[in-house]
Amino acid sequence: MNAQAGTPATFDVQRIRADFPLLARTVHGKPLVYFDNANTSQKPYQVIEAVDRHYREHNANVSRAVHLLGEEATAAYEGARDALARFIHAPSRDELVLTSGTTQAANLVAYSFALPRLRPGDAILTTVLEHHANIVPWQLVAGRAGATVKAAPIDERGELIVEQYLAMLTPEVKLACVGHVSNVLGTVNPVREIAKECRKRGIPLFVDGSQAVPHRAVDVQALGCDFYALTGHKMLAPTGTGALWAKKEHLDAMPPFFGGGDMIREVRFDGTTFADVPHKFEAGTPNIAGFAGVAAAIDYYDALGFEALRAHEKSLLEHATARLRDIPGLRIFGEAADKEPVISFLIEGAQATDLATLLDLEGVAVRSGHHCAHPLMQFFGIPATLRASLAFYNTHAEVDAFVAALLKVRKLLR
Ligand code: PLP
Repeated sequence: MNAQAGTPATFDVQRIRADFPLLARTVHGKPLVYFDNANTSQKPYQVIEAVDRHYREHNANVSRAVHLLGEEATAAYEGARDALARFIHAPSRDELVLTSGTTQAANLVAYSFALPRLRPGDAILTTVLEHHANIVPWQLVAGRAGATVKAAPIDERGELIVEQYLAMLTPEVKLACVGHVSNVLGTVNPVREIAKECRKRGIPLFVDGSQAVPHRAVDVQALGCDFYALTGHKMLAPTGTGALWAKKEHLDAMPPFFGGGDMIREVRFDGTTFADVPHKFEAGTPNIAGFAGVAAAIDYYDALGFEALRAHEKSLLEHATARLRDIPGLRIFGEAADKEPVISFLIEGAQATDLATLLDLEGVAVRSGHHCAHPLMQFFGIPATLRASLAFYNTHAEVDAFVAALLKVRKLLR
C-alpha cells in the first residue's frame, strides 16, 4: 500500500499526473487544485495528441470521400464507436449512436422514442436527484403530448427511495428514467434493481450515465436498461462528444430526429429513405477529431484499470469527507452508502459563491451553484451548494490544501 491508506501501491498518482499537462499550471500564483471534475475532466496528453494528430495527419470528412484521408478519418470515427461499445459492454457497435453528449442523447430519446408513444394522461418517471438533462427533455415532449413528468423522491441522505420509485412505475408510465450517479451528491442509484422491475412491468428504462463512466466499469447488459447516455468530456475526452446506447429493437423503431446529410439512403421528393441504425441518427458532420480523442481516452482508462482507480478515489473521498466533517458549521449534502467522489456542502454564515470565488484566489477550483439540479436544491430548501468533485489524478495532499484554503477563506467571510 502507498503512504495513503486505501490507494494501491501500484497506483502511482504522481506518474499519472504527469500525463495531464494542465494540472501543472498555477492559478493566481498558486498551484492548481482542480476539484471540478464532475463539471468536466482534465485531459491527458494521450487525448490531446490524438486530437492534434488527427488534424495534422488525417483530417478529412467521414463516410463521404473515397480518398485515403477520408478512409482514415472514417476509421478514427468508427473506431471510437468500437471503443465505446467495448467500454460499456454493448452487445453490438451498431447500438451506439455517437452524439455531442448526454444532453443530445436524452433529447434524441425524448423526441424519437418517447414522443411518438405518449398519449394524453401518460407519464414519464424521473427522480428528484436528476440533472436538468434528465428532466427538461421529458417535460418538453410530455407537454406536447398532454402527458406529465413524475419525480420519485429521495431521503435526507440523498438516496433514492427505491420502493417509491417502483411504486410509481404505474401503467401510464411509458418511459422510466434515472441517473446512474448524481452529479451533485455522488449518490449511486441501484440501476440493476430498477431495470429488473421495469422489465417486469414492460417499461423501458433510460439511464443517464454521465457521472458513472468516469468512475466505474459499466456493463449495460448486466445493468439491464434500455438506454444508456454518456458524455465524453467528463471522461477525459474532448467536449462535444458522447453517445447513446440503446437496444437495437428501440433504435430500429425510432424515427430519425435530425435530418440532413449522412443519415439517408436515398432522398426523393416523393419519399426519402433512411440509413440503417446507428447512422440514421447521425446527420451532418460529427466531431471527428473529438471522437479520435474519445478512443484515446478509453485506451487510457483501459491501461489504468478501474479497480486501482476506484480504490484511490474511494480513499480520496474518505479522506476529504473526514477532513470536511471536522470543520464546525459545515454541512455535507449527500451521505449515501454508495457514492462516487463528489461532495456537496455549505458552511454556516457563508455564501457558496463567495467561498468559491475566494477559493479560486487560493488556486482551488470548485463549483458553486445549483449544478443544473433545481429540484434537488428545492428538496433541500437551499439555492446552491459548493461542490468538490474528485478524480483519480487528485491527491490526498490536494485535499489537505483545499481544506486549508477553505479554513482560510471562511475566516475572511466572518
Ligand atoms: N447529466 C449529468 C448527470 C451531468 O452531470 C451532466 C453534465 O453536467 C449532463 C447530464 C449533461 O451532459 P452534457 O454536458 O454532455 O450535455
